[in-house]
Amino acid sequence: MTIEVALLDHTQDPVRTLYTAFRVCYSALTPAQIEARIADGRITRDQMQDFIDTRLATGHASPLQQIWFEFGISGVSRAFSHQFVRHHIGISFEQQSQRYVTYKDGTFPFTTPESIRRAGKEEAFERAIEAAGDAYLELVDSGVPAEDARFLLPNATNTNFKVTVNYLELLHIADLRLCTRAQWEFRKVVAMMRAELKRAFPELARYIQPKCGEFRLGYCDEDYEAWEDCPLGAKRPHKRTLFELYERARSANGGSARGLGDLDDDDFEIIELEQVGEPAEQY
Ligand SMILES: Cc1cc2nc3c(=O)[nH]c(=O)nc-3n(C[C@H](O)[C@H](O)[C@H](O)COP(=O)(O)OP(=O)(O)OC[C@H]3O[C@@H](n4cnc5c(N)ncnc54)[C@H](O)[C@@H]3O)c2cc1C
Repeated sequence: MTIEVALLDHTQDPVRTLYTAFRVCYSALTPAQIEARIADGRITRDQMQDFIDTRLATGHASPLQQIWFEFGISGVSRAFSHQFVRHHIGISFEQQSQRYVTYKDGTFPFTTPESIRRAGKEEAFERAIEAAGDAYLELVDSGVPAEDARFLLPNATNTNFKVTVNYLELLHIADLRLCTRAQWEFRKVVAMMRAELKRAFPELARYIQPKCGEFRLGYCDEDYEAWEDCPLGAKRPHKRTLFELYERARSANGGSARGLGDLDDDDFEIIELEQVGEPAEQY
């Protein structure tokens, strides 16, 4: 069975909602006045997008929770779904049940990983699936309820989801699951979610990146050896390299620039007592 991902519904106008959510924090205007200015064209789409882009470059993340997307996801394996449901903040799941859905003829949709095909083991794999299906059917036919017969079903068994996820969590999931170290099926699903979003809201979809992307953390924080093996490593630097460059720049400056170092008690005194620059904008 092939994976399908569809954007089923979403916050009516996510760009407007996100703009208003951010703007309320920085404006003397009321939310209703801001919305009125959007409605009468005094605030244009371009202005909204520019403002959103500057805010998204900061750590002011809570407005992202105010917009949501609904996805239908089908043809994914239970191996995938175990990982998917570990994300639990800002996402709600409904998943096809193996208690209420009985595979009455003992056949069930399943996923065959590409590596099994490449190894020439597809037949052996399918034999095992068929045997599980036959044993499942034997139990069901003997009156064993589906909720118990399912103990025989493999991780390859397909399942379907309807999820609602807010933008903040979608970005977080992409940070982790578009990383080349994540499992192939998860990468594929998130890439398909991104493609769906891109069709409807390209201005928001461009932020859906692995954490090393230019709109996200910007660098790789996985272990160095993993970064060396990563096909994206040529484009996105590793954290260690950035620290080395920082240290080299300091030495080239005769050591006068502030050096790389561990934070000590003096630093915490600065944190506690000094007012550095303007108060943080988000407050
Ligand atoms: C490459 C990879 C390998 C993994 N391998 C394993 C494995 O071998 N075994 C295993 O069990 N799991 C594994 N996981 C799953 C991982 O441990 C997390 O459970 C999963 O990624 C969900 O992410 P999250 O905790 O960020 O949850 P989300 O629900 O996506 O949370 C979003 C954010 O909310 C915050 N948050 C979430 N929960 C809390 C909380 N309780 N308290 C305070 N803040 C919270 C955190 O900032 C978190 O990042 C793996 C994940 C990845 C990406």
